[in-house]
Amino acid sequence: MNQQKIEDIVHKVAQSNGKIIFLAGAGISAESGIPTFRGEEGYWTIGSQNYQPQEMATFSMFNLRPMEVWKWYIYRHKVCNQVAPNAGHYALVEMENILKDRFSLITQNVDGLHKRAGNSVQRTFCIHGNLEFCRCSHECTETLYPFPKINPDRDKEADLSETDLKKLYCPRCNELLRPHILWFDERYNENYYKLQSSLALAKQSDILFLIGTSGITNLPYHVMKNAGDANSYIVEINPAETNFTSSVAAYEKGFIVREPSSTVLPKFLEAFKKVM
Ligand SMILES: [Zn+2]
Repeated sequence: MNQQKIEDIVHKVAQSNGKIIFLAGAGISAESGIPTFRGEEGYWTIGSQNYQPQEMATFSMFNLRPMEVWKWYIYRHKVCNQVAPNAGHYALVEMENILKDRFSLITQNVDGLHKRAGNSVQRTFCIHGNLEFCRCSHECTETLYPFPKINPDRDKEADLSETDLKKLYCPRCNELLRPHILWFDERYNENYYKLQSSLALAKQSDILFLIGTSGITNLPYHVMKNAGDANSYIVEINPAETNFTSSVAAYEKGFIVREPSSTVLPKFLEAFKKVM
């Protein structure tokens, strides 16, 4: 998509007053160097057994082996903290500054990079949770606590020290805390994951950007569908074809941009700067 086409679309969107929604997936984080945690890099070994992320990231595994699940997330949290936001993340921050209440970011990423780049908590819906937080596993409160500060030099598979272990208990009821993550055997909800809010936003959308998301999970699909029903522009930004591609291509106002988000989002930002 050339700059002229981008400016034409942005110009039309600027004349209206609906929502401008950015739905972000793993692709934008991968551009910062966050591993996909699929295959070998996502394995977790307990005894002689290798577990896949789909087995580790479950409430049933947390019930069975809570300390192994915690150690796995402590390791992932550390990996996420070792990388920095990229040009795509920073473009989204500037976009929010310009668009204000028209701006919404719906993200599948739990790495906290949007917040670290500078997007506001109010306008960022973390539909799969956020690894910067944890909460009571017994739901004694809906309060989110900061992710525990664990000794960063620990060996990732070693048992937790007494000092670190104490940080994993709810300050209110003393039951175990859990990472604030939507697990594979759990369902979307409004309280923690902004299910209804995301769907409602999409119905008021003037333009929806699908950024680096493969479209496998259910909520992103319904966000796209609601945006399409609202006659919104839908722009897929992804170097590769995704499960969204054929639907986007079928929309009259659907566009596909086969480039990384770190190069495309700054182009849209320039266009918005001219008209907003
Ligand atoms: Zn509690």
